[in-house]
Amino acid sequence: MMYLDLQPYIVLLLPVASTSGGIFIDNEWHTSSSGRTFPTFNPATGHKICDVEEADKEDVDRAVKAAKAAEQRGSPWRRMDASSRGRLLHKLADLMERDRLLLATLETLDTGKPFLQSFFIDLDGSIKTLRYYAGWADKIHGRSLPVGDFMCFTKHEPVGVCGAIIPWNFPLLMFMWKMAPALSCGNTVVIKPAEQTPLTALHVGALIKEAGFPPGVVNILPGFGPTAGAAIASHMDVDKVAFTGSTEVGQLIKEASAKSNLKRVTLELGGKNPCIVFADCDLQLAVEETQKGAFYNQGQCCTAASRVFVEESIYEEFVHRSVENVKKIVIGDPMDPQTSHGPQISQQHFDKIMDLIESGKEEGARLEYGGAAVGENRLFIQPTIFSGVKDQMRIAKEEIFGPVQCIFSFKRQQEAIERANRSQYGLVSAIFTRSMDRALSVSAALETGTVWINCYNALHAQTPFGGYKMSGNGRELGEYALAEYSEVKAVTIKLSETL
Ligand code: NAD
Repeated sequence: MMYLDLQPYIVLLLPVASTSGGIFIDNEWHTSSSGRTFPTFNPATGHKICDVEEADKEDVDRAVKAAKAAEQRGSPWRRMDASSRGRLLHKLADLMERDRLLLATLETLDTGKPFLQSFFIDLDGSIKTLRYYAGWADKIHGRSLPVGDFMCFTKHEPVGVCGAIIPWNFPLLMFMWKMAPALSCGNTVVIKPAEQTPLTALHVGALIKEAGFPPGVVNILPGFGPTAGAAIASHMDVDKVAFTGSTEVGQLIKEASAKSNLKRVTLELGGKNPCIVFADCDLQLAVEETQKGAFYNQGQCCTAASRVFVEESIYEEFVHRSVENVKKIVIGDPMDPQTSHGPQISQQHFDKIMDLIESGKEEGARLEYGGAAVGENRLFIQPTIFSGVKDQMRIAKEEIFGPVQCIFSFKRQQEAIERANRSQYGLVSAIFTRSMDRALSVSAALETGTVWINCYNALHAQTPFGGYKMSGNGRELGEYALAEYSEVKAVTIKLSETL
Protein backbone atom coordinates (compact mmCIF):
# COMPACT_ATOMS: atom_id res chain seq x y z
CA MET A 1 0.00 0.00 0.00
CA MET A 2 1.26 3.50 -0.84
CA TYR A 3 0.37 6.32 1.51
CA LEU A 4 0.04 9.98 0.74
CA ASP A 5 1.80 11.56 3.69
CA LEU A 6 0.03 14.85 4.29
CA GLN A 7 1.90 15.50 7.51
CA PRO A 8 4.03 18.37 6.08
CA TYR A 9 0.89 20.16 4.88
CA ILE A 10 -1.05 19.93 8.08
CA VAL A 11 -0.10 23.39 9.26
CA LEU A 12 -1.60 24.73 6.03
CA LEU A 13 -4.67 22.56 6.48
CA LEU A 14 -5.31 23.67 10.03
CA PRO A 15 -4.60 27.36 9.97
CA VAL A 16 -6.70 28.33 12.93
CA ALA A 17 -6.41 25.47 15.37
CA SER A 18 -2.68 25.01 14.88
CA THR A 19 -1.74 28.61 15.42
CA SER A 20 -4.15 29.71 18.06
CA GLY A 21 -4.54 27.07 20.70
CA GLY A 22 -7.48 24.89 20.04
CA ILE A 23 -10.12 25.51 22.74
CA PHE A 24 -12.86 27.65 21.25
CA ILE A 25 -14.76 29.75 23.81
CA ASP A 26 -16.56 33.05 23.21
CA ASN A 27 -15.39 33.05 19.56
CA GLU A 28 -11.76 33.13 20.69
CA TRP A 29 -9.04 30.47 20.77
CA HIS A 30 -7.63 29.57 24.17
CA THR A 31 -4.90 27.36 25.54
CA SER A 32 -5.92 24.82 28.17
CA SER A 33 -6.07 25.87 31.82
CA SER A 34 -3.90 22.91 32.77
CA GLY A 35 -1.31 23.67 30.08
CA ARG A 36 -1.76 20.13 28.72
CA THR A 37 -2.10 19.13 25.08
CA PHE A 38 -2.74 15.74 23.49
CA PRO A 39 -1.75 14.29 20.12
CA THR A 40 -4.12 13.20 17.40
CA PHE A 41 -3.01 10.44 15.01
CA ASN A 42 -3.69 9.36 11.45
CA PRO A 43 -4.91 5.77 11.92
CA ALA A 44 -3.86 4.84 8.37
CA THR A 45 -0.18 5.54 9.04
CA GLY A 46 0.14 5.79 12.81
CA HIS A 47 1.76 9.23 12.37
CA LYS A 48 0.93 12.05 14.72
CA ILE A 49 -0.98 14.77 12.89
CA CYS A 50 -0.68 17.52 15.48
CA ASP A 51 -1.15 18.34 19.17
CA VAL A 52 -4.41 19.79 20.41
CA GLU A 53 -5.13 21.70 23.61
CA GLU A 54 -6.67 19.42 26.24
CA ALA A 55 -9.77 20.88 27.85
CA ASP A 56 -10.57 19.87 31.41
CA LYS A 57 -13.15 20.80 34.06
CA GLU A 58 -11.86 24.38 34.42
CA ASP A 59 -12.17 24.98 30.68
CA VAL A 60 -15.65 23.46 30.70
CA ASP A 61 -16.61 25.89 33.46
CA ARG A 62 -15.37 28.79 31.33
CA ALA A 63 -17.21 27.55 28.27
CA VAL A 64 -20.47 26.98 30.14
CA LYS A 65 -20.22 30.48 31.61
CA ALA A 66 -19.83 31.91 28.10
CA ALA A 67 -22.70 29.79 26.76
CA LYS A 68 -24.95 30.82 29.65
CA ALA A 69 -24.20 34.50 29.17
CA ALA A 70 -24.92 34.14 25.44
CA GLU A 71 -28.39 32.68 26.06
CA GLN A 72 -29.54 35.12 28.76
CA ARG A 73 -32.69 37.10 28.01
CA GLY A 74 -31.67 40.37 26.37
CA SER A 75 -28.48 38.91 24.87
CA PRO A 76 -27.84 39.46 21.13
CA TRP A 77 -28.58 35.77 20.47
CA ARG A 78 -31.85 35.74 22.44
CA ARG A 79 -32.99 38.99 20.86
CA MET A 80 -32.08 37.89 17.36
CA ASP A 81 -34.99 37.52 14.99
CA ALA A 82 -35.62 33.81 14.28
CA SER A 83 -35.14 34.28 10.52
CA SER A 84 -31.70 35.76 11.21
CA ARG A 85 -30.84 32.65 13.25
CA GLY A 86 -31.79 30.60 10.20
CA ARG A 87 -29.66 32.84 7.98
CA LEU A 88 -26.64 32.25 10.23
CA LEU A 89 -27.11 28.49 9.95
CA HIS A 90 -27.30 28.84 6.15
CA LYS A 91 -24.15 30.98 6.22
CA LEU A 92 -22.33 28.26 8.16
CA ALA A 93 -23.54 25.71 5.60
CA ASP A 94 -22.19 27.98 2.79
CA LEU A 95 -18.80 28.17 4.51
CA MET A 96 -18.72 24.40 4.93
CA GLU A 97 -19.46 24.02 1.22
CA ARG A 98 -16.60 26.42 0.48
CA ASP A 99 -14.25 24.42 2.75
CA ARG A 100 -15.64 21.03 1.82
CA LEU A 101 -12.34 19.73 0.45
CA LEU A 102 -10.44 20.82 3.53
CA LEU A 103 -13.02 19.41 5.94
CA ALA A 104 -13.22 16.08 4.08
CA THR A 105 -9.40 15.85 4.06
CA LEU A 106 -9.20 16.54 7.79
CA GLU A 107 -11.95 14.00 8.49
CA THR A 108 -10.15 11.32 6.52
CA LEU A 109 -6.76 12.06 8.10
CA ASP A 110 -8.22 11.91 11.60
CA THR A 111 -10.61 8.93 11.23
CA GLY A 112 -9.10 6.86 8.40
CA LYS A 113 -12.40 6.77 6.52
CA PRO A 114 -12.08 6.73 2.73
CA PHE A 115 -11.83 10.26 1.35
CA LEU A 116 -14.70 9.95 -1.11
CA GLN A 117 -16.98 8.84 1.75
CA SER A 118 -15.90 11.85 3.83
CA PHE A 119 -16.45 14.17 0.89
CA PHE A 120 -19.75 12.78 -0.41
CA ILE A 121 -21.42 11.29 2.67
CA ASP A 122 -20.17 13.04 5.82
CA LEU A 123 -19.95 16.51 4.28
CA ASP A 124 -23.16 16.12 2.33
CA GLY A 125 -25.05 14.95 5.43
CA SER A 126 -23.54 17.70 7.58
CA ILE A 127 -24.42 20.51 5.16
CA LYS A 128 -27.93 19.16 4.56
CA THR A 129 -28.53 18.92 8.32
CA LEU A 130 -27.54 22.57 8.76
CA ARG A 131 -29.79 23.70 5.91
CA TYR A 132 -32.72 21.60 7.13
CA TYR A 133 -32.61 23.19 10.59
CA ALA A 134 -31.88 26.63 9.12
CA GLY A 135 -35.28 26.28 7.46
CA TRP A 136 -36.97 25.42 10.76
CA ALA A 137 -35.63 28.39 12.74
CA ASP A 138 -38.54 30.75 11.97
CA LYS A 139 -41.21 28.04 11.95
CA ILE A 140 -40.94 26.98 15.59
CA HIS A 141 -44.07 28.07 17.38
CA GLY A 142 -46.77 26.97 19.82
CA ARG A 143 -50.54 26.63 19.65
CA SER A 144 -53.63 28.30 21.05
CA LEU A 145 -55.91 26.10 23.14
CA PRO A 146 -59.48 27.12 23.94
CA VAL A 147 -60.40 25.76 27.41
CA GLY A 148 -63.72 27.06 28.82
CA ASP A 149 -63.32 30.39 30.61
CA PHE A 150 -59.64 30.46 29.84
CA MET A 151 -57.50 31.20 26.85
CA CYS A 152 -54.35 29.15 26.74
CA PHE A 153 -51.38 29.40 24.41
CA THR A 154 -48.07 27.63 24.27
CA LYS A 155 -44.65 29.02 23.44
CA HIS A 156 -41.60 27.00 22.48
CA GLU A 157 -38.57 28.40 24.24
CA PRO A 158 -34.92 27.33 24.15
CA VAL A 159 -33.80 24.88 26.83
CA GLY A 160 -30.62 26.87 27.52
CA VAL A 161 -27.05 25.58 27.46
CA CYS A 162 -26.86 22.31 25.52
CA GLY A 163 -23.88 19.99 25.99
CA ALA A 164 -22.91 17.69 23.11
CA ILE A 165 -20.53 14.75 23.49
CA ILE A 166 -19.45 13.40 20.12
CA PRO A 167 -18.01 10.02 19.02
CA TRP A 168 -15.10 9.34 16.65
CA ASN A 169 -16.93 7.40 13.93
CA PHE A 170 -18.74 10.38 12.33
CA PRO A 171 -17.13 13.38 14.05
CA LEU A 172 -18.46 16.17 11.85
CA LEU A 173 -21.86 14.66 11.11
CA MET A 174 -22.64 13.93 14.78
CA PHE A 175 -21.57 17.47 15.67
CA MET A 176 -24.08 18.84 13.14
CA TRP A 177 -26.87 16.46 14.21
CA LYS A 178 -26.60 18.00 17.68
CA MET A 179 -25.64 21.60 17.03
CA ALA A 180 -28.02 22.39 14.15
CA PRO A 181 -31.34 21.69 15.96
CA ALA A 182 -29.98 23.23 19.17
CA LEU A 183 -29.17 26.53 17.43
CA SER A 184 -32.31 26.46 15.32
CA CYS A 185 -34.32 26.48 18.58
CA GLY A 186 -32.20 29.36 19.99
CA ASN A 187 -30.01 27.42 22.45
CA THR A 188 -26.28 27.77 23.00
CA VAL A 189 -23.87 24.85 22.73
CA VAL A 190 -20.82 23.42 24.50
CA ILE A 191 -19.40 20.51 22.54
CA LYS A 192 -16.69 18.00 23.21
CA PRO A 193 -15.43 16.12 20.17
CA ALA A 194 -13.99 12.63 20.67
CA GLU A 195 -10.35 12.65 21.74
CA GLN A 196 -9.41 10.53 18.69
CA THR A 197 -10.91 12.97 16.16
CA PRO A 198 -10.98 16.64 17.20
CA LEU A 199 -9.84 18.28 13.94
CA THR A 200 -12.98 18.96 11.91
CA ALA A 201 -14.75 20.36 14.99
CA LEU A 202 -11.91 22.83 15.46
CA HIS A 203 -12.17 24.02 11.89
CA VAL A 204 -15.91 24.48 12.37
CA GLY A 205 -15.03 26.78 15.29
CA ALA A 206 -13.28 29.08 12.83
CA LEU A 207 -16.30 28.97 10.53
CA ILE A 208 -18.71 29.74 13.39
CA LYS A 209 -16.80 32.96 14.01
CA GLU A 210 -16.56 33.80 10.32
CA ALA A 211 -20.31 33.22 9.86
CA GLY A 212 -21.00 35.83 12.53
CA PHE A 213 -22.54 33.88 15.38
CA PRO A 214 -22.38 35.99 18.56
CA PRO A 215 -19.61 35.01 21.02
CA GLY A 216 -20.49 32.15 23.38
CA VAL A 217 -23.20 30.63 21.18
CA VAL A 218 -20.95 27.71 20.18
CA ASN A 219 -18.00 26.58 22.31
CA ILE A 220 -15.75 23.68 21.37
CA LEU A 221 -13.64 21.77 23.88
CA PRO A 222 -11.33 19.03 22.65
CA GLY A 223 -10.53 16.68 25.52
CA PHE A 224 -11.13 13.32 27.14
CA GLY A 225 -14.33 11.66 28.33
CA PRO A 226 -13.73 11.10 32.04
CA THR A 227 -12.51 14.71 32.43
CA ALA A 228 -14.06 17.21 29.97
CA GLY A 229 -16.98 14.92 29.01
CA ALA A 230 -17.87 14.12 32.61
CA ALA A 231 -17.63 17.82 33.55
CA ILE A 232 -20.25 18.65 30.90
CA ALA A 233 -22.53 15.78 31.99
CA SER A 234 -22.48 16.80 35.66
CA HIS A 235 -22.43 20.60 35.23
CA MET A 236 -25.15 22.43 37.16
CA ASP A 237 -25.53 25.07 34.43
CA VAL A 238 -25.80 22.69 31.48
CA ASP A 239 -29.51 22.23 30.83
CA LYS A 240 -29.38 19.38 28.36
CA VAL A 241 -26.81 16.93 27.11
CA ALA A 242 -26.86 14.97 23.86
CA PHE A 243 -24.51 12.02 23.65
CA THR A 244 -23.53 9.50 20.97
CA GLY A 245 -21.24 6.64 21.93
CA SER A 246 -21.11 3.47 23.96
CA THR A 247 -23.96 2.18 26.10
CA GLU A 248 -21.69 2.11 29.15
CA VAL A 249 -20.87 5.81 28.88
CA GLY A 250 -24.53 6.57 28.09
CA GLN A 251 -25.38 5.09 31.48
CA LEU A 252 -22.73 7.29 33.14
CA ILE A 253 -24.20 10.38 31.47
CA LYS A 254 -27.69 9.62 32.79
CA GLU A 255 -26.27 8.97 36.24
CA ALA A 256 -24.37 12.28 36.16
CA SER A 257 -27.55 14.06 35.14
CA ALA A 258 -29.50 12.43 37.98
CA LYS A 259 -26.84 13.36 40.52
CA SER A 260 -26.48 16.97 39.35
CA ASN A 261 -29.37 19.06 38.02
CA LEU A 262 -31.52 16.42 36.25
CA LYS A 263 -30.53 17.93 32.94
CA ARG A 264 -32.37 16.51 29.95
CA VAL A 265 -30.47 13.67 28.32
CA THR A 266 -30.72 12.26 24.82
CA LEU A 267 -28.64 9.21 23.99
CA GLU A 268 -27.69 7.51 20.73
CA LEU A 269 -25.95 4.30 21.74
CA GLY A 270 -25.12 0.89 20.36
CA GLY A 271 -26.93 -1.53 18.14
CA LYS A 272 -26.93 -5.20 17.16
CA ASN A 273 -29.02 -4.55 14.14
CA PRO A 274 -31.00 -7.34 12.49
CA CYS A 275 -31.75 -7.70 8.78
CA ILE A 276 -34.40 -10.22 7.74
CA VAL A 277 -33.94 -11.51 4.20
CA PHE A 278 -36.96 -13.38 2.86
CA ALA A 279 -36.76 -15.88 -0.02
CA ASP A 280 -38.93 -13.67 -2.26
CA CYS A 281 -36.49 -10.72 -2.14
CA ASP A 282 -34.36 -9.27 -4.91
CA LEU A 283 -31.40 -11.39 -3.85
CA GLN A 284 -28.59 -9.33 -5.35
CA LEU A 285 -30.03 -6.14 -3.86
CA ALA A 286 -30.26 -7.82 -0.44
CA VAL A 287 -26.66 -9.07 -0.70
CA GLU A 288 -25.34 -5.63 -1.64
CA GLU A 289 -27.36 -3.62 0.86
CA THR A 290 -26.74 -5.88 3.86
CA GLN A 291 -23.06 -5.86 3.03
CA LYS A 292 -22.98 -2.12 2.66
CA GLY A 293 -24.62 -2.05 6.09
CA ALA A 294 -22.06 -4.42 7.59
CA PHE A 295 -18.87 -2.88 6.19
CA TYR A 296 -19.57 0.82 5.75
CA ASN A 297 -17.01 2.91 7.70
CA GLN A 298 -15.12 -0.33 8.46
CA GLY A 299 -18.17 -1.53 10.40
CA GLN A 300 -17.73 1.34 12.87
CA CYS A 301 -21.37 2.38 12.78
CA CYS A 302 -24.07 2.18 15.43
CA THR A 303 -26.29 1.13 12.51
CA ALA A 304 -23.98 -1.72 11.40
CA ALA A 305 -25.94 -4.61 9.87
CA SER A 306 -24.40 -7.09 12.26
CA ARG A 307 -27.06 -9.84 12.30
CA VAL A 308 -28.34 -10.99 8.92
CA PHE A 309 -31.15 -13.58 9.16
CA VAL A 310 -31.65 -15.32 5.81
CA GLU A 311 -34.53 -17.67 4.94
CA GLU A 312 -33.27 -21.24 4.74
CA SER A 313 -34.20 -21.87 1.09
CA ILE A 314 -31.88 -19.07 -0.19
CA TYR A 315 -29.26 -19.31 2.55
CA GLU A 316 -26.47 -21.05 0.62
CA GLU A 317 -26.93 -18.79 -2.41
CA PHE A 318 -26.97 -15.68 -0.20
CA VAL A 319 -23.71 -16.69 1.51
CA HIS A 320 -22.10 -17.55 -1.85
CA ARG A 321 -23.08 -14.22 -3.39
CA SER A 322 -21.99 -12.32 -0.27
CA VAL A 323 -18.53 -13.84 -0.53
CA GLU A 324 -18.35 -12.89 -4.22
CA ASN A 325 -19.60 -9.36 -3.51
CA VAL A 326 -17.16 -8.64 -0.69
CA LYS A 327 -14.26 -9.11 -3.10
CA LYS A 328 -15.19 -5.75 -4.67
CA ILE A 329 -14.11 -3.94 -1.48
CA VAL A 330 -10.75 -2.20 -1.92
CA ILE A 331 -8.58 -1.91 1.19
CA GLY A 332 -5.96 0.80 1.07
CA ASP A 333 -4.81 4.35 1.65
CA PRO A 334 -7.94 6.30 2.63
CA MET A 335 -6.77 9.27 0.53
CA ASP A 336 -6.77 7.11 -2.63
CA PRO A 337 -10.11 7.53 -4.45
CA GLN A 338 -10.10 3.80 -5.31
CA THR A 339 -10.17 2.85 -1.63
CA SER A 340 -13.45 1.77 -0.07
CA HIS A 341 -12.11 0.31 3.20
CA GLY A 342 -9.71 2.06 5.57
CA PRO A 343 -8.19 1.30 8.97
CA GLN A 344 -9.96 0.91 12.31
CA ILE A 345 -9.77 3.95 14.56
CA SER A 346 -7.20 2.78 17.13
CA GLN A 347 -5.05 -0.10 18.35
CA GLN A 348 -7.39 -0.67 21.27
CA HIS A 349 -10.39 -0.91 19.00
CA PHE A 350 -8.50 -3.10 16.50
CA ASP A 351 -7.64 -5.52 19.35
CA LYS A 352 -11.26 -5.68 20.49
CA ILE A 353 -12.45 -6.56 16.97
CA MET A 354 -9.74 -9.20 16.44
CA ASP A 355 -10.64 -10.77 19.79
CA LEU A 356 -14.28 -11.05 18.71
CA ILE A 357 -13.27 -12.54 15.35
CA GLU A 358 -11.21 -15.16 17.22
CA SER A 359 -14.18 -15.90 19.48
CA GLY A 360 -16.33 -16.49 16.38
CA LYS A 361 -13.83 -19.05 15.08
CA GLU A 362 -13.52 -20.75 18.48
CA GLU A 363 -17.26 -20.92 19.04
CA GLY A 364 -17.76 -22.72 15.73
CA ALA A 365 -19.01 -20.11 13.25
CA ARG A 366 -17.79 -20.79 9.69
CA LEU A 367 -15.29 -18.18 8.49
CA GLU A 368 -16.30 -17.62 4.86
CA TYR A 369 -14.02 -14.67 4.11
CA GLY A 370 -11.43 -12.42 5.75
CA GLY A 371 -10.78 -12.69 9.46
CA ALA A 372 -7.23 -11.34 9.37
CA ALA A 373 -5.34 -8.10 9.74
CA VAL A 374 -3.83 -6.49 6.62
CA GLY A 375 -0.29 -5.11 6.56
CA GLU A 376 2.19 -5.11 9.40
CA ASN A 377 1.71 -2.82 12.39
CA ARG A 378 -1.35 -1.33 10.83
CA LEU A 379 -4.97 -1.06 11.87
CA PHE A 380 -6.58 -2.55 8.75
CA ILE A 381 -8.85 -5.60 9.09
CA GLN A 382 -10.22 -7.57 6.14
CA PRO A 383 -13.97 -7.43 5.75
CA THR A 384 -14.99 -10.66 7.45
CA ILE A 385 -17.97 -12.94 6.82
CA PHE A 386 -19.14 -15.66 9.19
CA SER A 387 -21.92 -18.08 8.25
CA GLY A 388 -23.56 -20.68 10.48
CA VAL A 389 -23.70 -18.14 13.31
CA LYS A 390 -25.75 -19.22 16.34
CA ASP A 391 -27.63 -16.80 18.59
CA GLN A 392 -25.65 -17.60 21.75
CA MET A 393 -22.21 -16.85 20.22
CA ARG A 394 -20.39 -13.70 21.32
CA ILE A 395 -20.31 -12.37 17.75
CA ALA A 396 -24.11 -12.72 17.67
CA LYS A 397 -24.67 -10.82 20.92
CA GLU A 398 -21.92 -8.22 21.39
CA GLU A 399 -21.59 -5.04 19.39
CA ILE A 400 -18.40 -5.62 17.36
CA PHE A 401 -18.19 -2.15 15.77
CA GLY A 402 -15.90 -3.62 13.15
CA PRO A 403 -16.06 -5.15 9.66
CA VAL A 404 -17.73 -8.42 10.59
CA GLN A 405 -20.89 -9.73 8.93
CA CYS A 406 -22.70 -12.54 10.74
CA ILE A 407 -25.14 -14.59 8.67
CA PHE A 408 -27.80 -16.73 10.38
CA SER A 409 -30.48 -18.92 8.83
CA PHE A 410 -34.18 -19.05 9.74
CA LYS A 411 -37.14 -21.21 8.77
CA ARG A 412 -40.26 -19.23 9.74
CA GLN A 413 -41.18 -15.53 9.75
CA GLN A 414 -42.27 -15.56 13.40
CA GLU A 415 -38.99 -17.19 14.39
CA ALA A 416 -37.01 -14.50 12.53
CA ILE A 417 -38.96 -11.72 14.26
CA GLU A 418 -38.47 -13.22 17.72
CA ARG A 419 -34.73 -13.74 17.20
CA ALA A 420 -34.33 -10.27 15.69
CA ASN A 421 -35.98 -8.74 18.77
CA ARG A 422 -33.96 -10.85 21.22
CA SER A 423 -31.43 -8.13 21.99
CA GLN A 424 -30.91 -5.42 24.57
CA TYR A 425 -30.57 -3.05 21.62
CA GLY A 426 -33.22 -1.65 19.29
CA LEU A 427 -31.64 0.87 16.97
CA VAL A 428 -32.31 -0.11 13.35
CA SER A 429 -33.47 -3.14 11.36
CA ALA A 430 -34.01 -4.00 7.72
CA ILE A 431 -36.38 -6.24 5.77
CA PHE A 432 -35.78 -7.56 2.27
CA THR A 433 -38.85 -8.87 0.43
CA ARG A 434 -40.88 -8.08 -2.68
CA SER A 435 -44.10 -8.26 -0.66
CA MET A 436 -44.95 -4.83 0.78
CA ASP A 437 -47.76 -6.44 2.74
CA ARG A 438 -45.30 -8.69 4.54
CA ALA A 439 -42.75 -5.88 4.89
CA LEU A 440 -45.28 -3.65 6.64
CA SER A 441 -46.50 -6.42 8.97
CA VAL A 442 -42.97 -7.39 9.94
CA SER A 443 -41.92 -3.75 10.36
CA ALA A 444 -44.72 -3.35 12.94
CA ALA A 445 -43.30 -6.27 14.94
CA LEU A 446 -39.66 -5.14 15.00
CA GLU A 447 -38.56 -3.31 18.16
CA THR A 448 -36.30 -0.72 16.55
CA GLY A 449 -36.43 3.04 16.03
CA THR A 450 -35.80 2.68 12.31
CA VAL A 451 -36.92 -0.03 9.88
CA TRP A 452 -35.46 0.00 6.37
CA ILE A 453 -37.30 -1.90 3.66
CA ASN A 454 -35.21 -3.04 0.69
CA CYS A 455 -32.49 -0.53 1.59
CA TYR A 456 -29.90 0.15 4.28
CA ASN A 457 -28.32 3.19 5.94
CA ALA A 458 -30.90 5.41 4.26
CA LEU A 459 -30.54 8.37 6.66
CA HIS A 460 -31.98 11.80 5.91
CA ALA A 461 -32.08 15.10 7.77
CA GLN A 462 -35.90 14.99 7.57
CA THR A 463 -36.26 11.53 9.16
CA PRO A 464 -36.02 10.95 12.93
CA PHE A 465 -33.28 8.66 14.14
CA GLY A 466 -32.95 7.01 17.54
CA GLY A 467 -33.28 3.78 19.42
CA TYR A 468 -35.67 1.58 21.35
CA LYS A 469 -34.49 -0.23 24.49
CA MET A 470 -30.80 0.24 25.38
CA SER A 471 -29.98 1.83 22.04
CA GLY A 472 -30.90 5.17 23.53
CA ASN A 473 -33.45 7.80 24.39
CA GLY A 474 -34.91 10.55 22.29
CA ARG A 475 -34.64 11.26 18.59
CA GLU A 476 -32.20 13.21 16.45
CA LEU A 477 -33.02 14.69 13.05
CA GLY A 478 -36.35 15.64 11.59
CA GLU A 479 -39.01 17.73 13.26
CA TYR A 480 -38.91 15.34 16.24
CA ALA A 481 -35.47 16.60 17.30
CA LEU A 482 -36.84 20.11 17.82
CA ALA A 483 -38.81 18.83 20.83
CA GLU A 484 -35.55 17.69 22.43
CA TYR A 485 -34.20 21.26 22.24
CA SER A 486 -37.21 23.31 23.35
CA GLU A 487 -39.21 23.87 26.50
CA VAL A 488 -42.95 24.31 26.11
CA LYS A 489 -44.44 27.13 28.15
CA ALA A 490 -48.22 27.18 28.64
CA VAL A 491 -49.65 30.65 29.29
CA THR A 492 -53.23 30.67 30.59
CA ILE A 493 -55.43 33.80 30.68
CA LYS A 494 -58.68 33.95 32.67
CA LEU A 495 -61.38 35.56 30.57
CA SER A 496 -63.65 37.97 32.45
CA GLU A 497 -66.62 37.02 30.39
CA THR A 498 -67.50 34.19 28.08
CA LEU A 499 -69.58 35.30 25.14
P1 NAD B 1 -17.14 6.18 24.25
O1 NAD B 1 -18.57 6.00 24.56
O2 NAD B 1 -16.15 6.01 25.36
O3 NAD B 1 -16.85 7.64 23.62
C1 NAD B 1 -17.81 8.47 23.02
C2 NAD B 1 -17.65 9.89 23.55
O4 NAD B 1 -17.92 9.89 24.95
C3 NAD B 1 -16.24 10.47 23.40
O5 NAD B 1 -16.33 11.85 23.13
C4 NAD B 1 -15.65 10.27 24.78
O6 NAD B 1 -14.60 11.16 25.10
C5 NAD B 1 -16.85 10.51 25.66
N1 NAD B 1 -16.77 9.92 27.00
C6 NAD B 1 -16.09 8.81 27.38
N2 NAD B 1 -16.23 8.62 28.71
C7 NAD B 1 -17.01 9.62 29.18
C8 NAD B 1 -17.50 9.96 30.46
N3 NAD B 1 -17.22 9.25 31.53
N4 NAD B 1 -18.29 11.05 30.57
C9 NAD B 1 -18.60 11.79 29.49
N5 NAD B 1 -18.15 11.53 28.25
C10 NAD B 1 -17.36 10.44 28.08
O7 NAD B 1 -16.78 5.20 23.08
P2 NAD B 1 -15.33 4.60 22.72
O8 NAD B 1 -14.59 4.14 23.94
O9 NAD B 1 -14.65 5.59 21.87
O10 NAD B 1 -15.76 3.32 21.90
C11 NAD B 1 -16.16 2.15 22.63
C12 NAD B 1 -17.35 1.51 21.99
O11 NAD B 1 -18.44 2.43 21.98
C13 NAD B 1 -17.17 1.14 20.53
O12 NAD B 1 -16.52 -0.09 20.39
C14 NAD B 1 -18.60 1.09 20.08
O13 NAD B 1 -19.17 -0.15 20.42
C15 NAD B 1 -19.26 2.18 20.87
N6 NAD B 1 -19.40 3.43 20.10
C16 NAD B 1 -20.62 3.70 19.59
C17 NAD B 1 -20.79 4.83 18.81
C18 NAD B 1 -22.12 5.14 18.21
O14 NAD B 1 -22.19 5.77 17.16
N7 NAD B 1 -23.23 4.76 18.86
C19 NAD B 1 -19.72 5.67 18.54
C20 NAD B 1 -18.47 5.40 19.11
C21 NAD B 1 -18.34 4.26 19.88
